[in-house]
Amino acid sequence: MTIHEAQQQVDIWIRQYGGGYFGELTNLGILTEEVGEMARWMVRKYGDQNLKPSEQQTDIKAAIEDEMTDILWVLLCLANQMEIDLTTSLEKNILKKTTRDHNRHINEQAK
Ligand SMILES: [Mg+2]
Repeated sequence: MTIHEAQQQVDIWIRQYGGGYFGELTNLGILTEEVGEMARWMVRKYGDQNLKPSEQQTDIKAAIEDEMTDILWVLLCLANQMEIDLTTSLEKNILKKTTRDHNRHINEQAK
C-alpha cells in the first residue's frame, strides 16, 4: 500500500463507518493520546519501568506496533482533512533533510 492509497483507504473508512472526521483539534488530542500510549509500552520495553502483573503476558512489540499504527491512522486523518498530500510532503522532507544534513551524521564520532 502506498501512502496515497493509505490516505484514500482511511478517507473511505471514515466516510463509511466513522461518521465523518473529528475536528482537527480533537484529532490533535487523539494523536497526543496515541503517542502517550506508545510511550507507555516503550518505557517498559526499553526504559526502566516494569510491567504490572496484569501486563506480564502482553506481547510488547505487538502493543507498540498497534499504537504506532494508531498514530499513523490519526496522522492520515489529519492530512486528509487538512488537504495535505503526505507522499509529496514526505518527498519534500527527505530532500530537505538530504540537502541540509547529508554530512551531519556521517562526520559525527560515535559517543
Ligand atoms: Mg491506541
